[in-house]
Amino acid sequence: MTLRLYDTNTRQVRDFVPLVPGCVSIYLCGATVQAPPHIGHIRSGLNFDVMRRWLGYRGYDVTFVRNVTDIDDKVIAKSREFGIPWWQIAYANERAFNDGYAALGCLPPTAEPRATGHVPEMIEMMRGLIERGHAYASEGNVYFDVKSYPDYLELSNQQLENLLQPEGEGETGKRDARDFAMWKRAKEGEPSWETPWGRGRPGWHLECSAMAHKYLGRAFDIHGGGIDLIFPHHENEIAQSKAYGDDFAAFWVHNAWVTMSGEKMSKSLGNSVLVSDMVQRWRPIVLRYYLASPHYRSMIEYSEESLREAETAFARIEGFVERAVERCGAVDPAPEVPLAFAEAMDDDLGVPQALAVLHTAVRQGNSALTADDKDSAVARLAEVRAMLGVLGLDPLDDFWAGGSRGDDLHGVVDSLVRLVLDQRQAARDRKDYATADAIRDQLGLAGLAIEDTPSGPRWTVNQ
Ligand SMILES: [Zn+2]
Repeated sequence: MTLRLYDTNTRQVRDFVPLVPGCVSIYLCGATVQAPPHIGHIRSGLNFDVMRRWLGYRGYDVTFVRNVTDIDDKVIAKSREFGIPWWQIAYANERAFNDGYAALGCLPPTAEPRATGHVPEMIEMMRGLIERGHAYASEGNVYFDVKSYPDYLELSNQQLENLLQPEGEGETGKRDARDFAMWKRAKEGEPSWETPWGRGRPGWHLECSAMAHKYLGRAFDIHGGGIDLIFPHHENEIAQSKAYGDDFAAFWVHNAWVTMSGEKMSKSLGNSVLVSDMVQRWRPIVLRYYLASPHYRSMIEYSEESLREAETAFARIEGFVERAVERCGAVDPAPEVPLAFAEAMDDDLGVPQALAVLHTAVRQGNSALTADDKDSAVARLAEVRAMLGVLGLDPLDDFWAGGSRGDDLHGVVDSLVRLVLDQRQAARDRKDYATADAIRDQLGLAGLAIEDTPSGPRWTVNQ
């Protein structure tokens, strides 16, 4: 079986064949760290985390680079507004993004380069492009000459004649209004770096071309980002990198947005959808299920109701896992996921179809438990855990079950409660029911509910 991916550039789903056998290199445009993330920002990182886990399952050695744009107009504006240095704004928000990715179970990238750490690489690229006649310096800015690159606008399928290039402030001295800025002249009181063409700061597009070249070389497998980045950002990255002599990305993969009332989720909606706020109101594993369940190319229209539906759906999966472990004991994930699940994932990361396979296995597992067919229940549990693991959603994985969420005391409390429950069992064995009931009542006062199951007593914290 071969993984097939939708490639924005060729506008079709096509076979994914890595440039280097056994290895996959991915560059994902990361955050512009001007504000803390809402769930719409994290969706991209999450979709690509699922892609990366699937490629890992398929046996590939994945190099995953996700950059940080730590300087831009909005970062500078906030620095002025709050009277603190630009890097303090950028770094605080970078940490908030990393907390958000980590809370939702995204694996850390192989490298996470910051734009401002790569000015020498950007100067090198501009120098090369000027020498080859693709760029020019003018009035302290450096522009890319779009007419010098014939394949410009292939990704977004536009015509140069009709192009309206979004223009940044202070972009003077262009030869053609459609040329775009690679480097911006320094303004009074703004952070700036020295270049052969004067002091200034990087343009957004140049950062990614320079960092992809540095970390992934002249050619790499997959370039990703949200659909809003196709133009101008990715189109301009391609022009710079290819004109510089790089082959650049073999595949272009774009994820859809989280929308509210049909509009792209934005900061103006306030704090209600900030990841830091959402993880207080919803379990992070449920948020991950909610954001990862739809196909990555489908919009998610956000609502509390749809989140509750996701919570219910995930509870069905989790309930089976818990009951099966109680009845049959711990079971490792199966070494392989079911064929139908793999086929769905290989078909452009078809998570909705893959989840249908998973839910079927959960139903079959529940039926097996009801029929007291332990062999079948164990087999379904192993499969379900394997499928959940690929999606980063296995509740028994150390990440969710262990100390990574700050509840490292769970293991200690569990040992203590088991000790008390053993005392209760000993009292029952000697038919001292008064003591047994008293122990149960004491645990109840401590906020613990005890349920007797065929595999022994089970405790939960009363909500
Ligand atoms: Zn980028």
